[in-house]
Amino acid sequence: MCRHIGYLGPQVGLDELLLHPAHSLVEQTWAPNDMRAGGAVNVDGFGVGWYGRDSTVPKRYRAEGPMWADGNFAELAGCLRSGAVVGAVRSATGSSPAGRAACAPFGSGPWLFSHNGSVPGWPDSLADLADKLDPAELVTLDAPVDSALVWALLLHRLDGGQPPADAVRDTLAEVVAASPRARMNLLLSDGHTLIATTWAHSLAVCRTAEAVLLASEPFELPAAALGGTSSGGHGSPEWHPVPEGSLVVADRVSTSCTPLFENSPESR
Ligand code: GLN
Repeated sequence: MCRHIGYLGPQVGLDELLLHPAHSLVEQTWAPNDMRAGGAVNVDGFGVGWYGRDSTVPKRYRAEGPMWADGNFAELAGCLRSGAVVGAVRSATGSSPAGRAACAPFGSGPWLFSHNGSVPGWPDSLADLADKLDPAELVTLDAPVDSALVWALLLHRLDGGQPPADAVRDTLAEVVAASPRARMNLLLSDGHTLIATTWAHSLAVCRTAEAVLLASEPFELPAAALGGTSSGGHGSPEWHPVPEGSLVVADRVSTSCTPLFENSPESR
């Protein structure tokens, strides 16, 4: 099941964040530790979105095929730096097509979005929810994949002015109500905040004095996240597993982790 990461902190090279660390996102393409719902590798494409210093609209690089096999990305990553990044490597679920357009992060305006999970019965299970969207919101879907429809449902709420954390929670709730065995680890950013959920998949969080990182699987911290020193020394910040059924909201100053629901619906 796909792996994703979110980073907010000092400017970091995309290669330092995604390619070089021990158990980096690129390593998680061929050697993930905690896939849970099947799939052994994450080689059905990948994507990275990053925010420039002066832009509220992120750039994205997405490609079909494994991240490790994309020499163009490796070269570009060595030239690109950002203080806000969302990355994802994909293990396609069900009959979802391959292809660049099916890869997270999905985006619109200031938003980047990734879904680690699956929606059983899709598209039928979400047909009633999709019917509530304007046809224009559906034709802009990147690809016929469950994650893109989850993104359309979430974007509908964001565009309607709902606060982002509420929109994430409510989107998860409506999808799980329609497809009770859905796996819904969501990750949303606007470059200032990371909002994430745990719903049947792993997620870990690490806060340093300089940065906050969220990741499906912990990896070695880049030096930029540690104020320029190398990781691994005495007192290195630690990754903490996020409990199942949580909503994480993190910015450059603070992190909150709360239960998504007071009484978690029986989802699985
Ligand atoms: N269901 C999504 C897809 O098919 C996400 C995959 C995943 O998390 N493994 O791309």
